[in-house]
Amino acid sequence: MAEQTASVTATVDLVLDEQPWRMQLTVPAGPATPGQLLHLLRGLTDAVVDAAVEKSAAQGRPISCRKGCGACCRQLVPIAPAEAHRLRQVIAAMPEPRRNEVLNRFEAAHAKLAATGMLDRLRAPARLDEASRRRLGIDYFRHGVACPFLEQESCSIYTERPLACREYLVTSPATHCAQPTPDSIDCLPIAVQVSRALRKLEASQDRQDKVGLSWVPLITAPEWAKEYPEAPPTSSGPAQIESLFKWLGTAPSADNAEA
Ligand code: SF4
Repeated sequence: MAEQTASVTATVDLVLDEQPWRMQLTVPAGPATPGQLLHLLRGLTDAVVDAAVEKSAAQGRPISCRKGCGACCRQLVPIAPAEAHRLRQVIAAMPEPRRNEVLNRFEAAHAKLAATGMLDRLRAPARLDEASRRRLGIDYFRHGVACPFLEQESCSIYTERPLACREYLVTSPATHCAQPTPDSIDCLPIAVQVSRALRKLEASQDRQDKVGLSWVPLITAPEWAKEYPEAPPTSSGPAQIESLFKWLGTAPSADNAEA
């Protein structure tokens, strides 16, 4: 059977932080999983964040995040199922002994979370209502569980980091991040949250046969992805992009097909 190579390019015109902005998104013309769109969504997220960083700096509020400051990497990070599958692949592709070291860090984190009684809740996030989820996030940070990808207070998978990590930047003093409160942390406001749109897209498709599942905690992502293998595509690349932009509250402006 001949391999399908047809793709479609959508030209996206957006206004981000009051600046017109254009991007071309090339996606498979045929069936595509959200995971196949991930590289595009990373580019989109980075563009959204860059525009917000520029605007904030122009308003006298530069970003205070610096390489080597990993305080925020002790938070509960919500990721989309497609990102959980991607992280599992990233770990599988690591050379030894690094892969084993990372897996050991996940195991150590799970042991710590089990001891606090949080692990069961983290393994069934769909059962949590909004208030319980907020409570879990506070408890999680209080226990100082570092992300297993954090090395020397820097992200060791920087180019592969999830969308939520890309979107999280602060303008408040970096020293506040070790003891964050709603009043002491000023997060960078961004025009659209691609991470949330992807999670909503996947939840709307109910792809993993897990009713209502819209997010996976990064800390349980590898084991979750192993238990629930990536589902086959349910719609075409253009249809996935169209749905995603609906969740973002905007729409691609024009399409043209390519071989
Ligand atoms: S993936 Fe990287 S940026 Fe995200 S929490 Fe982990 S170490 Fe931090």
